[in-house]
Amino acid sequence: MKQKSLAIFLVITLLATLLTGTAGAASPPAGEAGQPHGAIAMRHIEFMNDNLPARTPFSYRELETARWIAGQLLDMGYAPEQIQMQQFSWSDVYRWAWRDFSVMAAEGFFRYSARRLGDLSQNVILTVPGRSEQVIIVGAHYDSFPYPGAADNASGTALLLESAQRMKAHDNYYTIVYIFFGAEESGLLGAEFYLASLSEEQRNRILFMVNADALFEGPYFLYSAGFSEDIESGVPQANNITRGGSTPSPTCSTTALSRT
Ligand SMILES: [Zn+2]
Repeated sequence: MKQKSLAIFLVITLLATLLTGTAGAASPPAGEAGQPHGAIAMRHIEFMNDNLPARTPFSYRELETARWIAGQLLDMGYAPEQIQMQQFSWSDVYRWAWRDFSVMAAEGFFRYSARRLGDLSQNVILTVPGRSEQVIIVGAHYDSFPYPGAADNASGTALLLESAQRMKAHDNYYTIVYIFFGAEESGLLGAEFYLASLSEEQRNRILFMVNADALFEGPYFLYSAGFSEDIESGVPQANNITRGGSTPSPTCSTTALSRT
């Protein structure tokens, strides 16, 4: 866990630097004073690992996790109006799926959690207004394959939760939109639905996106950075093109907003 804590610490410090321009200067909110960066996220990862495993897309467990995330954001003091549960059905998004539902079912994808009636999933969206209407999106998917999913992607989910908690104490310039995406593992469906829900004007307000996915794998810290140009909209998109660490391992890439 030591290296995982270090990984989370480094990423949160990086994110704090990116969003505030002051490395390591984020003040922990009341009740969290003295907590090193990453400590809050580690608690969330452990909670999700033990209590919310197998968050398969379009399942009741996925919904339970979405509600838990929203509850965490409310507990931080964010207003209900700042939190949106963006629900979508399989029929809304099937055209973006790279895997057929029957194939997933045959492979036991839904073995550990019941599918929801109507095949519903959801994104949890927190908007933290800044002085500017320009938007930085910080995203992570919270669903998983039918495993505990601590690395992929409780780690990214927890990073967003700690970041949101710490950003509460800041007067940020840019508007920050935290998005906890659902149904990522069945083909980036939550991200595709979110993107399709935006108007041209809303898309043009996006400066860039930071996507947090599988921040560690076993004892290894994964990091990546990159850039790609969205050909259709011309909006610069964060892209996961490289990875780091001390040993090769599969790259988990969810470039939510680079697919249009
Ligand atoms: Zn992932």
